[in-house]
Amino acid sequence: MQWQIGNLTVTRIEEMIGPMFDPVRFFPDYDPAVFEQHRDWLYPDHVEEATGRIIASMHSWLVETPHHKILIDTCIGNDKQRMPYKNWHQMNTPWLQNLKQAGVSPEDIDYVMCTHLHVDHVGWNTRLDNGQWVPTFPNARYIFSKDEFDFWKHERETQAEETFAQVNNQTFDDSVLPIMHLADLVEGETELIADLLRICPAPGHTPGSIAIELSDSGSLGVFTGDICHHPIQVALPEWNSAFCEMPEQARATRRNILNRCCDAHALVLPAHFGGGFAGHIRESGKGFRIDFD
Ligand SMILES: [Zn+2]
Repeated sequence: MQWQIGNLTVTRIEEMIGPMFDPVRFFPDYDPAVFEQHRDWLYPDHVEEATGRIIASMHSWLVETPHHKILIDTCIGNDKQRMPYKNWHQMNTPWLQNLKQAGVSPEDIDYVMCTHLHVDHVGWNTRLDNGQWVPTFPNARYIFSKDEFDFWKHERETQAEETFAQVNNQTFDDSVLPIMHLADLVEGETELIADLLRICPAPGHTPGSIAIELSDSGSLGVFTGDICHHPIQVALPEWNSAFCEMPEQARATRRNILNRCCDAHALVLPAHFGGGFAGHIRESGKGFRIDFD
């Protein structure tokens, strides 16, 4: 569950993993023949044989440098009202214990970074304390893209209070607004820690999605958020998920980032891949493949 980028350590902090989604609903371009064609590496790590459902992991990435402890993406969280997503509703997972088992307590975290503000990337920003949503990481700066924050703020002000809008609105209310006094909004390409941690705009999945680049001693790691939800999108970069807000832009960004990671021999650390969780991108056919480390 640990990777090295130069002298820096990255640890996967698990919330849950399993056959979470029906590919027919998840991928607008889904074609079972494509899954068959890629069978040798897709099953059983990335697609469940018995049900055909795609495997998704919910995890955060903990980055430890000599001076900082950084958390990237904060999963779904406990106790949140998330209907109609009944599997994510009022969860009670040991995510916080998993973080502590990695030797880090919430007070130790210096930066919390969310690649975007979807429900499964902001949950542990807050925890329930006596009926109030309070910051889980009281000593951290929370780093968001300004474009992303502005987009969801506008949605919050204009969306009707129904079904999916309601989930987005509640997410914004219980996991984003309560920590805004600790937040810094960044715009464009931003070096958060000199020569070490860089934020790169990666719009498409959501308007303000970011990729996070970590470099040390000539090694590069890229946290790609939901630019690719599932490794089949590495093989077929034109496949969007049903949750990509800007479909054309999402395809262009996916291909750009995969090209960059391929050329730079970067370790890619996506938000939801199962199997080996992180790996290196190589060119393969008209797309790419990922070799898990
Ligand atoms: Zn996600």
